[in-house]
Amino acid sequence: MPHDYYELLEVAREATQDEIKKAYRKMAIKYHPDKNPDNPEAEEKFKEISEAYEALKDPDKRAAYDRYGHAAFQGAGGGGGGFHDPFDVFRDFFGQGGGGGQGGGGGIFEEFFGGGGGGQRGGPTQGENLGEDLEISLEEAAEGVTKEIAYRRHETCDSCDGSGAESGSSRVKCGTCGGVGQVISSRGFFQVRQACPTCQGQGTTVEKPCGSCRGHGVQVNTHKVKLNIPAGVDTGSRLRSRGNGNAGQQGGPYGDLYVTLHIAPHEIFERHGDDLYCLIPIKFTLAALGGMIEVPTLTGRASLKIPSGTQGGTKFRLRGKGMPALRGNHIGDEIVRVEIEVPKKLGGEERAALENFAEVCGDADEPVEKGFFDKAKKWFE
Ligand SMILES: [Zn+2]
Ligand SMILES: [Zn+2]
Repeated sequence: MPHDYYELLEVAREATQDEIKKAYRKMAIKYHPDKNPDNPEAEEKFKEISEAYEALKDPDKRAAYDRYGHAAFQGAGGGGGGFHDPFDVFRDFFGQGGGGGQGGGGGIFEEFFGGGGGGQRGGPTQGENLGEDLEISLEEAAEGVTKEIAYRRHETCDSCDGSGAESGSSRVKCGTCGGVGQVISSRGFFQVRQACPTCQGQGTTVEKPCGSCRGHGVQVNTHKVKLNIPAGVDTGSRLRSRGNGNAGQQGGPYGDLYVTLHIAPHEIFERHGDDLYCLIPIKFTLAALGGMIEVPTLTGRASLKIPSGTQGGTKFRLRGKGMPALRGNHIGDEIVRVEIEVPKKLGGEERAALENFAEVCGDADEPVEKGFFDKAKKWFE
């Protein structure tokens, strides 16, 4: 049974992509076989964390994992499940050898610090993905709901259409990097290839920056998005809204928006998976005599039969009155637990009636579970 990817990387399920990246970097360095020769345990660990990172580094794969667990990567179309080479991830991550290498020199941290990634220079790049949190009510989670959220994001500048150049001026080769888009500097033992700080890896700068965006090509705007939230979501469910992240550079596509849902605490119901729990107080006379009561449900109310002799803490199950499952047709149950209410004050007549009741019962009806006194005898001696 494979381990939980989040546990393997020692990050919370809500961890940001950046936190996951950092956690993986730390562990990959620690468990890399080069550092642990002849240590099969470290090698196994290295494989496991690489697999975990492979799955979680990609927001799409991560969302699939969050929903379906390891099953997301098994079977057809799963991209080979557990058979991939862990060194692919490592290379991809640290830019060691492999496709992205543009001439030697860079240490293993090349890609990690490189910004821009994969030898992209000058061309359009996709905008960053953004994350937002949204709280909805339990009722909304049960029925599904459409919500509008507003948040700040980078959008393509209207004035320059994203070019960053004042109208009439053009882009010129960057003076800092000579148009390469990257600069090389040293960090400790490593030579690090970095995106050029002047042109942000683009290789060109604008002759005359656009006045509205000061040459960035993007401006920060408040953006509104309508989200269709399906029935059955729970706290921690993440929704992806394509193209609603930050604007890309130089006309590149927008990133995506990921919305993490939180279900607000409910006054009456507590959710456990697809079941809803609630505590209903009933009068001790009803518990003894039995009868019908009305109990709240998420959508209204339902009748519940209380059999005579019901004890405090007894649970009743109302089938199909819980939460719908996010996938499939299953609907959970509502579990009603009763609490017996004893009157705190007795009026004269009530007291007389109860005294009468006690007299009628005599010792015949012990007020506690039969046999209790046998068990408890030694405490009284
Ligand atoms: Zn502009
Ligand atoms: Zn430059």
